[in-house]
Amino acid sequence: MNDYTICIVGGGACGVAALAELMVQLKMTGVHDKTKVVLIEKGDKVGQGLAFGTDQPGHLLNTQANLMGIHSFEPDHFAGWLETQPDDHKNEVKGDNQLHESYTTRRLYGNYLKEQVRHYLAEAEKIGLEVHIIHDEATDLSPDGEGWEVTLAHGPVLYADHVLLVPGTPKPNNFPEFDGLANYFDFPWPSEPIIDGIPKNAEVAILGSSLSAIDAIMTLTDSGHQGKISLYSLDGLMPRVQPVEGRSYKRKYLTLSRIHQIRRSEWRQPRIKDLFRLFQQEVENYTGAPVDWKATERKGFPAQELLEQDIRIAEDGGDAFINILYDMRYEESQVWDWLSIEEKQRFKKWLGPYWTVTRYGMPLINARRLADLFQKGKLEVNFPMRDVTFDETKQRFLLQFADVWCDEREFLINATGPSKNVEKMQSVLIQNLLKKGIIEAYPVGGIVVDPSKMEVISSKERVKNLYAVGHICNGLLLDVNAVWFNVQCIATLSEHIVKKLQHGDHS
Ligand SMILES: Cc1cc2nc3c(=O)[nH]c(=O)nc-3n(C[C@H](O)[C@H](O)[C@H](O)COP(=O)(O)OP(=O)(O)OC[C@H]3O[C@@H](n4cnc5c(N)ncnc54)[C@H](O)[C@@H]3O)c2cc1C
Repeated sequence: MNDYTICIVGGGACGVAALAELMVQLKMTGVHDKTKVVLIEKGDKVGQGLAFGTDQPGHLLNTQANLMGIHSFEPDHFAGWLETQPDDHKNEVKGDNQLHESYTTRRLYGNYLKEQVRHYLAEAEKIGLEVHIIHDEATDLSPDGEGWEVTLAHGPVLYADHVLLVPGTPKPNNFPEFDGLANYFDFPWPSEPIIDGIPKNAEVAILGSSLSAIDAIMTLTDSGHQGKISLYSLDGLMPRVQPVEGRSYKRKYLTLSRIHQIRRSEWRQPRIKDLFRLFQQEVENYTGAPVDWKATERKGFPAQELLEQDIRIAEDGGDAFINILYDMRYEESQVWDWLSIEEKQRFKKWLGPYWTVTRYGMPLINARRLADLFQKGKLEVNFPMRDVTFDETKQRFLLQFADVWCDEREFLINATGPSKNVEKMQSVLIQNLLKKGIIEAYPVGGIVVDPSKMEVISSKERVKNLYAVGHICNGLLLDVNAVWFNVQCIATLSEHIVKKLQHGDHS
């Protein structure tokens, strides 16, 4: 009989990373033989999830292989695994980068995750740690002493001392008025409904112009779609292009020490305008010349033009914006933590769209495919989108943009991306916990957690031994859309949980 039970809700990349990390820490502290780990996954496979469950050849990682390892102390674990793969897998490694810096298909990464699950389940038996995988949906949690009663959609209620929520990226419900319409596809994933539901020569409208929209374009083109594809987005910005080999650059101005100086010399938290000023100094230091900042404006420019320019910049090792932000990736979370809610909201409104398209760029190989579609007149980006409605008589979606235009399209794909706002996340569990006040919405998005141990905080309910990682923390934390960051958060919370178990601390 085990003294403790740890329950992981969600069997995607974070769930798998949590299983592996907890196993290591439980074994190292010798509490593995009195602990049981239960992983609940509503899908039929563990180690896929939304991001890495795709079967599409054009759905690529947006992060280099050597940052995709599931172990926080071994970010290059996936890159090492790639070296062991048989040659026929090498077709899944895209682009001209070296293997360790390559962008593979996300389905290959899904295979890596599945293999990790098999490996760690076998290791668990060897080291004497009880692990259970339950294929069911967790629909609710109720406090039970210092632990939790976990309600499942089908199976019996189970008890856990500690619960980790890693539910991934729930669908948004931002166009409920279209739900049920035959030609409306509410998410770019899974791809089958889109491939089966849209005739090859049909004109297709896609809402959004981010990485999600690019996934939808790749799904269509890889399944032989010939019809015109039109993106409709609020700002027309597409992700920039990841450089083949980024120019390494050592920052001088936009650094933690410079930002911290503001805290101790002016006795206040940094503001977005402070960060932008330091960023401007950094860019001019990088370029070695004053910059015409007006000329760096991207909104309002044709997407095709910007893309072709971005491809040239990527082939040439990237520019100041891309390489400075890339160099800052391990520090931006600390800076984000120093910002007040108002400043975080100001960032999301002002610089957020630029930061997102620069930090989460698309691999060069996909950029070249999009450029080819533009050149053939098969792709267009319309903005600013004003409204989209459905005309029952015409059985067409009416898409208004740029105040004057209104297009009619028969097929519509919602690629506006996952909802940031927890109230809009389509998940029975999340909505139940929200209603009960066990989780609380954070004004910038997602829920409130204590970032020092990823423990859920609520002002409404006494919440203990409940943790959350990933997209559900998208407001309070910045890089939740990156495996490397989520894996670091998982190492932090695992240490916290295991310390409690080690000291027999149920509280
Ligand atoms: C399309 C897409 C592409 C991405 N590409 C990258 C990339 O290239 N590199 C990168 O670092 N990051 C990428 N991300 C970000 C990615 O979301 C994060 O990296 C994240 O770590 C993914 O893992 P996850 O476990 O949080 O989510 P997911 O992989 O989505 O897994 C969540 C799992 O939880 C299960 N689940 C949810 N609710 C319940 C419940 N109530 N009960 C039981 N099971 C439940 C789901 O079925 C799912 O299997 C991408 C995200 C998306 C959406």
